[in-house]
Amino acid sequence: MSSPTAPVPRPGILDIAPYIGGEAAGSIRLASNEGALGPSPKAMEAYARLAGQIHRYPDGGSTELRHALARRFGLDAERIVCGAGSDELIGLLCRAYAGPGDEVLYSAHGFLMYPIAAKSVGATPVAAPETNLTTDVDALLARVTPRTKIVFVANPNNPTGSFLTTEEMARLHAGLPANVLLVIDAAYAEYVTRNDYGAGAELVDRFPNVVMTRTFSKIFALGSMRLGWAYCPAGVADILNRVRGPFNVSGAAQAAGVAALEDPEFLDRSRAHNEEWRGWFVEKAQALGLTVHPSIANFVLVSFKGQPGGKDDAEAARQFLKGRGILVRQMNAYGLPDCLRITIGTGEEMTAVVDALDAFLKG
Ligand code: PMP
Repeated sequence: MSSPTAPVPRPGILDIAPYIGGEAAGSIRLASNEGALGPSPKAMEAYARLAGQIHRYPDGGSTELRHALARRFGLDAERIVCGAGSDELIGLLCRAYAGPGDEVLYSAHGFLMYPIAAKSVGATPVAAPETNLTTDVDALLARVTPRTKIVFVANPNNPTGSFLTTEEMARLHAGLPANVLLVIDAAYAEYVTRNDYGAGAELVDRFPNVVMTRTFSKIFALGSMRLGWAYCPAGVADILNRVRGPFNVSGAAQAAGVAALEDPEFLDRSRAHNEEWRGWFVEKAQALGLTVHPSIANFVLVSFKGQPGGKDDAEAARQFLKGRGILVRQMNAYGLPDCLRITIGTGEEMTAVVDALDAFLKG
């Protein structure tokens, strides 16, 4: 037998299409759902203060941060696990609870990391269809099999901006077998102002098979810090603490996170800004004749389908915007090639986007 000429990955790994993040170069960056107002000055100061400490390993248990989160959100600090972005926690949950022969269920047009994380542990990702670009509880439940191990639901969902009400989420949970883990990915929770929405902590407190993941990358605008957290039942927290790296969250990220939590006024300002400019942008985009999917997060999905005069080409629109230094996200990887996802930025940025879309459509 001839020996292979190079190491070969496990079966299925080569089926993974790499996650391509937003481009870094460009003056107006509206491709990655980063908070429009940037980070709290308090978080930046805490980060800078850490400079003299970078030869030290961080607190491996993220203790101060977990307690700050527990105080801020009224949770049990012992059941919080921090990670290098919620991406890491999504990956760790797959690593711990799914493997070859298992299925990981999510909603079509759900966040792209779910199938990537499932495939990377050898599990089979299963996408349930949506109704009007919104997670369909019945469609998810219909696809649960004895092999289903995890159900991921982004709430609000990226990239559609749609959401499940507290009631619908409870109905989804009630329909799942007790051995299936429901992961509620609430990365955009802090933006939501509706009272029929809950991030999921109440379900976590009541049931041993529900986890809520959150991030500091969005409204807290600390994406570069790579900081996320999971609120878990005690059993799941124990498992995550077994499989995570011993120092998985940097000291700078922990310090910036604690400081960001100590600046609630900045958070309120960011939420109000988003509400105001998302409303403004949706109105302007609709006035241009574009279809905008209703969003409760800090981005909107804009469809170019049906635009007259050959202006139905979302990729051509993206290139046009890029020519003006405006970066927005193409949706081919999500199976939505007629759409672009546009993050809500500053007032000047949103005005520039509307002007550019107007010029594209009229050009
Ligand atoms: N979940 C959702 C729904 C997201 O949109 C994102 C960011 N794109 C993440 C998780 C991951 O965020 P992070 O790893 O920066 O915490």
